[in-house]
Amino acid sequence: MLAKMEKKVTVIEESDHFGRDMEAHTMVGLMAEVKEGNVEILTSKKIGEITDGGVALIDGTGNKSLHEADTVMVALELAPSESHLAEELRGNVKEIYTIGDAKSFRRMMKAISEGYVTAYHL
Ligand SMILES: Cc1cc2nc3c(=O)[nH]c(=O)nc-3n(C[C@H](O)[C@H](O)[C@H](O)COP(=O)(O)OP(=O)(O)OC[C@H]3O[C@@H](n4cnc5c(N)ncnc54)[C@H](O)[C@@H]3O)c2cc1C
Repeated sequence: MLAKMEKKVTVIEESDHFGRDMEAHTMVGLMAEVKEGNVEILTSKKIGEITDGGVALIDGTGNKSLHEADTVMVALELAPSESHLAEELRGNVKEIYTIGDAKSFRRMMKAISEGYVTAYHL
């Protein structure tokens, strides 16, 4: 979307692979837009610091560089919340199970199958 607004966009990814876990058909469509919008993708680059001038990057060998930017959007990996609801409820109800993203952040299918298997064994 930003590229379509004629912004110069760079995606910085810590791992060596862009679009990890993305479904193939979504990836194909996205890569076409990435190409069309001249979006630069930098992999194996860790963000060390966000400064007034941009983003301080560290590569796999520890080399540092500055990637100039006037706006930075942070979209890091998702993780389960720090909620301890299950622990708080334990003892007040006969049985309690933690499933889906509350257990660890994954995909819809995993949450659905865990719900199914848990309910099946009740
Ligand atoms: C931006 C984004 C994009 C995603 N894209 C995909 C995708 O393309 N494909 C895919 O497979 N998965 C995707 N996922 C992951 C997928 O959404 C989750 O794996 C799935 O929704 C997990 O289901 P769940 O039932 O465990 O949790 P949720 O769907 O999060 O449901 C938990 C529910 O519990 C409610 N809740 C929380 N605390 C309380 C409380 N104290 N009392 C009552 N209710 C409460 C919440 O409001 C929420 O409605 C995406 C997730 C995000 C955030």
